[in-house]
Amino acid sequence: MTGTDPVPIAQLLLRHRSVTPVDDGAQTTLAGLLESLGFTVETLQCGEVSNLVARRGTGSPHFAFAGHTDVVPPGDDWRHPPFGGTIADGLLYGRGAVDMKGAIAAFVAALASRPAYRAGTISLLITGDEEGEAVDGTRRILDHLAENRALPEFCLVGEPTCRTTLGDTIKIGRRGSVSARITVPGVQGHVAYPHLADNPLHRLIPALEALRTRQLDTGTAWFEPSSLQITSVDTGNAAGNVIPASASARLNIRFNDRHKGTELAAWIRETVSTYAPGAKCETSISGEAFLTKPGKDIDLLSDAIAKVTGITPKLDTGGGTSDARFITSYCPVAEFGLVGTSMHRVDEAVPISELRDLSEIYAQILDRVFA
Ligand SMILES: [Zn+2]
Repeated sequence: MTGTDPVPIAQLLLRHRSVTPVDDGAQTTLAGLLESLGFTVETLQCGEVSNLVARRGTGSPHFAFAGHTDVVPPGDDWRHPPFGGTIADGLLYGRGAVDMKGAIAAFVAALASRPAYRAGTISLLITGDEEGEAVDGTRRILDHLAENRALPEFCLVGEPTCRTTLGDTIKIGRRGSVSARITVPGVQGHVAYPHLADNPLHRLIPALEALRTRQLDTGTAWFEPSSLQITSVDTGNAAGNVIPASASARLNIRFNDRHKGTELAAWIRETVSTYAPGAKCETSISGEAFLTKPGKDIDLLSDAIAKVTGITPKLDTGGGTSDARFITSYCPVAEFGLVGTSMHRVDEAVPISELRDLSEIYAQILDRVFA
């Protein structure tokens, strides 16, 4: 029977070397824990990627918890083995302790700490492809749920959201992201004879300047201003007296809910073709901006967090993208999890007390959803 302490559950999960896309049995362990709590578990294998959908109960309300069992590679020089689940000085060490096997363990322990609710449905949507391409992960799970008319009414993603103290931040949206790679062709030549050459930098630089200096917006109610950053400019030119044959650049825009990725991508391509006709410009959108407007669902999360921590969380939309960008197309979604400072770092670790508090917060959320 699955226990109500998240620590041993997290240790079990941390001992699987589930570096994307390898699962190494992590989801089988999780499935066993959930089945002992009365869940029906379905496995969705998509190529190399393992996904898991667990479900208990029927009807409304239908609350889902989403997360991932995959982790980023550990790197070297850990104080404790990255897949050992070692406890030392009040901390539980391991790759994924914070991002985000710890939160999955906290949710499972929360379920174990409460009797099955009289009415309603609880689902867990767990992917093994969040840290990778995210092509065969949460999107496949959502397609599957949509086909089976089994979509939740609200989804909580357990990604690490807190800045310094557990309870300080809920993410109610995320910025979108669009990237571009620009290549301007030219004709190589001697700098002393520019009329015999064609300098591509003299078109690339004005194009970049036009892109960089446009103010995209001044922010919106819940978002910071959108930001365009040029991330590289290259000619591959080692000599100071040679006009390069071509010049390339890369840039990225993190944008708020005033914009659509397709519109920004079109603007980038038009600007480039105005200042550098004949240039190649490839754009890609990795996520649209989204927002779950504050209201009843978010109030319920804030209330549960305040009950356990005494803190009223800040509602935030900053940081990188997450799988919530896919979920938002199907149901309202918010994110709440551990303090993120050690994620993706050597010696990733979660304080034991924080893990137990997160579990109690998740239990308080369940009590309020199914009250
Ligand atoms: Zn994560």
